Amino acid sequence: MAEMACAVCGERFEEDDLLFSDKGRICEHCEMDLKEQSTLNRGVWFTVINGPITALAGSVMACVPVVGPFLMLVMGAIALWRGTVALQVAWYGRHDAALESGQKAALWLGGLVTCIWAVGLVMGGGVGAVITLWMSLHG
Ligand SMILES: [Zn+2]
Repeated sequence: MAEMACAVCGERFEEDDLLFSDKGRICEHCEMDLKEQSTLNRGVWFTVINGPITALAGSVMACVPVVGPFLMLVMGAIALWRGTVALQVAWYGRHDAALESGQKAALWLGGLVTCIWAVGLVMGGGVGAVITLWMSLHG
């Protein structure tokens, strides 16, 4: 049986034991690592974009008549929570070698932008909601 080196870790294995991947022939252990890394990457980007998307949706709600401020308030609260989650991931993962520096920066930036945006939504939505309620009671 021919021996072959894993394209990632360089350890030698029986050729039949090596798996095909886009990095070449790799061992089972490295293939597991690659899968974990890609799951992690997806999770990180999901965490980064989640907050701004919610905040954007909340901002669009400002155009909705009557219930707009209430929706803004709710979406703002959800966005704030998601922004906090992104910052937590960034904080706990700051020494994690599995996270690339670009991902860490994106988490910090995404989390911060989302939190500031969300606070604006909560305040704007809150004021709008109070005005809408006041007008419906006194108008
Ligand atoms: Zn390997």
